[in-house]
Amino acid sequence: MFSFQAEHRVFTGDGTAWEKDSSHVSLFDCSKLAIGSAEASLAWLARELAWPARDAPARRVAVGTDRYLRCPFCARVFSLSDRNRWGGGTHLSCGQRIDIVEKTP
Ligand SMILES: [Zn+2]
Repeated sequence: MFSFQAEHRVFTGDGTAWEKDSSHVSLFDCSKLAIGSAEASLAWLARELAWPARDAPARRVAVGTDRYLRCPFCARVFSLSDRNRWGGGTHLSCGQRIDIVEKTP
């Protein structure tokens, strides 16, 4: 069985020696890990940029016992129990930060 350990080496300017080039060495040992991490970062960035209300100031919204509210930014109605829509302070569809105020009957 044959195994081969790849190692980048560069020839020094004066031509007398080969030196190890570590400029290609990733923080991740494996390029697949690095690519996966970069893709995850880009996906996160895309989600961040997809929030048109990400820089809008927080708004107070009164919520009744049904736990539904209308987003003051995008006007979509959603439930506080919908984990795909409510991020515990942020409407996940548009990024609007919302302070929940209990509606008094
Ligand atoms: Zn919204």
